Amino acid sequence: MIEFDRQHIWHPYTSATAPLPVYPVVSARGVRLQLADGRELVDGMSSWWCAIHGYNHPALNAAVTEQLDRMAHVMFGGLTHGPAVDLAEQLLRLAPASMEHVFFADSGSVAVEVAIKMAVQYQVARGRPHKARLLTVRGGYHGDTFGAMAVCDPVTGMHQLFSAVLPKQIFAPRPERRFGEPLQTGDMDDIERLLAEHADELAAVIIEPIVQGAGGMWFYSAAYLARLATLCERHDVLLILDEIATGFGRSGRMFACEHAGIEPDILCIGKALTGGYMTLAATLASHRVAQGISADGGVLMHGPTFMGNPLACAVANRSIALLLERDWQAEVASIEAQLRAELATYADHPAVADVRVLGAIGVVELHDEVDVAELQRRFVAAGVWIRPFGKLVYLMPPYIIDPDDLSALTGAIDLAL
Ligand code: PMP
Repeated sequence: MIEFDRQHIWHPYTSATAPLPVYPVVSARGVRLQLADGRELVDGMSSWWCAIHGYNHPALNAAVTEQLDRMAHVMFGGLTHGPAVDLAEQLLRLAPASMEHVFFADSGSVAVEVAIKMAVQYQVARGRPHKARLLTVRGGYHGDTFGAMAVCDPVTGMHQLFSAVLPKQIFAPRPERRFGEPLQTGDMDDIERLLAEHADELAAVIIEPIVQGAGGMWFYSAAYLARLATLCERHDVLLILDEIATGFGRSGRMFACEHAGIEPDILCIGKALTGGYMTLAATLASHRVAQGISADGGVLMHGPTFMGNPLACAVANRSIALLLERDWQAEVASIEAQLRAELATYADHPAVADVRVLGAIGVVELHDEVDVAELQRRFVAAGVWIRPFGKLVYLMPPYIIDPDDLSALTGAIDLAL
């Protein structure tokens, strides 16, 4: 199996002919992945930040099988169904009050594409077709499709490879002030100037609220985000918040924008939406945006084949219910406290550039890039599943992790040093 995989299957961000090694998994339960050779690994990744309730959860399994008995899928064009309507209702109850309309997408990247389309179509419908560009900050990540790639960090993203086809968007510096710090004079001069200069050609600002994820695992000041929302309003530019990584409690709030007390015009969610069971994302919009697009008979030009997939919606409904039934704030807060205490021991190590923690996210940033294959081999040998990238070794465990398993993860980071 491994040999066929190596010869023929592309894995994420790796070579077809000289790929990074992969480890065969046969099952997963709770916070443990079981490898084909019988070894068990404590999961520190929540499968790229999705499996917030852990794996093989009885309630989520039941949601899928119950829905499977009714129907796995029907087209969303001309049809609707309970799981999608229930999910839209749940999402609108949880999301910032400005959100009133839901578009179901099939992945995070697609949700971002839809958000960009919404913003551009909104400006066209208002008779401002010249407002078609986007402004964002460096250090961001929004997905791997073309519209999304164009707003990923221009250095760590894929701009070099695709510069011939990517639209040229506008980049402000990364928000430098850390989470918890107030703004200082001058902090926002650059983004303020760019917004003012380009207001006539900007459809929207797109940004990950508070937590910049795959672009560098950076937590920035809530005051920055609050001020940015005010500036967008002042310059008649929509605000798109990408909560695909942060939604559903990861930063300690249901949505990270709550740290700044702001509301977007358009909101992207995904990842933990289905508790990590299957792919589903959504783009939510304010009434102003939806009404603007639909004025004079306008329609939003998007409609994926698997839009609103009933299995995915059913498991998302159950995952959200599960989250709300439990005291997830306390779970995330205790993970945060333990990460702070245990990762702090690495802060003075000469190989470590920075240690930072927010909610159920712990990051150890090194001075040098890690050798991913070698470090993963050591992590697996130590019984943990941690997937570093660049100079970053980070933990995003399922919220159900117990203190001993979390200590196994934090302790294993020593292997990176
Ligand atoms: N936006 C953010 C903030 C993300 O973290 C990701 C995924 N890492 C995406 C968008 C893209 O989502 P997907 O991989 O589901 O396309």
